[in-house]
Amino acid sequence: MGGYRINTEPEKAILIGVSNDNQPYSHIEDYLAELAFLVETAGAIPVRTFIQRLDTPNSRTFIGSGKLDEVRQFVIREKIDIVIFDDELSPSQLRNLEMELGIRVLDRTNLILDIFAQRAKTAYAKTQVELAQYEYLLPRLAGMWTHLERQRGGIGLRGPGEAEIETDRRIIRTKIAILKDHLEKIDRQMTTQRKNRGRLVRVSLVGYTNVGKSTLMNLLSKSDLFAENKLFATLDATVRKVVIGNLPFLLSDTVGFIRKLPHHLVESFKSTLDEVREADLLLHVVDISHPGFEEQISVVNQTLQEIHAADKPTLVVFNKTDAYSYVPKDEDDLSPRQKENLTLEELQKSWMARNNAPCIFISALLKQNAEALRRLLYDMVREIHITRYPYDNFLY
Ligand code: GDP
Ligand code: MG
Repeated sequence: MGGYRINTEPEKAILIGVSNDNQPYSHIEDYLAELAFLVETAGAIPVRTFIQRLDTPNSRTFIGSGKLDEVRQFVIREKIDIVIFDDELSPSQLRNLEMELGIRVLDRTNLILDIFAQRAKTAYAKTQVELAQYEYLLPRLAGMWTHLERQRGGIGLRGPGEAEIETDRRIIRTKIAILKDHLEKIDRQMTTQRKNRGRLVRVSLVGYTNVGKSTLMNLLSKSDLFAENKLFATLDATVRKVVIGNLPFLLSDTVGFIRKLPHHLVESFKSTLDEVREADLLLHVVDISHPGFEEQISVVNQTLQEIHAADKPTLVVFNKTDAYSYVPKDEDDLSPRQKENLTLEELQKSWMARNNAPCIFISALLKQNAEALRRLLYDMVREIHITRYPYDNFLY
């Protein structure tokens, strides 16, 4: 068929971020590094990043006209295929930018949705993603891509599976209604299924994306889940029965959280997140080797609050201790110590002292401290079980 993009070569992308008081310059580089990771996960090549210091984004084109010129020249010279913004753009900003630059423009939300679409495995996850994609798309349709028809099939234009997403307004409206209806039916089935699981304590793995949740799930349940160094490898919730000692419980692994996940997107994955919402105990997995792990912790806590799951008993699992790099400080360097100037033991002590949730340090990959984790988990699950089913003494 003519007019379709032939997907032989990966698309070349440039990334744009804006720094302001909410996003200081020191953070924006980390944010764009994460965006680059997302771009690679989606299958494109991040070629360059542009950062502009701007207190209020330009209402027409998000970035200022000078920066836009610079970007345009680079796009032409380097034959760039897509421009990706770290922030959510309004429908009109998106349209204006596509007009000005003559190539496809994506924002962070669109990119994340695209990755979700590629990663969704079950019919259920696909339905959720498709709904989220169409709800994102509908207000942005006017004029969008009409001048870019030949690039159909690229990032941001792919639905779940092989399907290309629909761009006809009327068809989309009908689709949204059908998808919602379909999801409601599945939801009812799943709620019934969850109720039928019986008297087992339910534990849920939560955490930022790529911290090692699936690896830990595999370790605890001796299963073989998909874990790789890409964002959002897991989109569907997986539930396994785990037995520690003589104590059985259910462990679920699900989609990771990430900063700037728009509220309506979180909403679309409501059913996937029900697993978390209905859990008795959360294992909050943290990648201690990531320089921004503290911010990742707050993003997760914030998201948990959004889905009303913040007040559950929680065990914080600091993972990837094997990859933690300690940078000793020079004795005559008087600047305050940063967290990387702490040894793992010091870091552990300071977290144990200030964290009100219990925590443990492990390496899921190298299975370090796994026994201690199992013992701790056993105690916490057992306590919940005893409280819930006081007459259930066959267990002990
Ligand atoms: P998820 O997105 O939270 O489910 O993370 P995954 O379990 O898919 O792991 C993401 C990446 O981190 C994979 O490449 C894992 O091999 C790696 N990983 C997981 N646990 C550890 C660990 O303890 N140490 C190191 N160095 N890497 C780990
Ligand atoms: Mg995973």
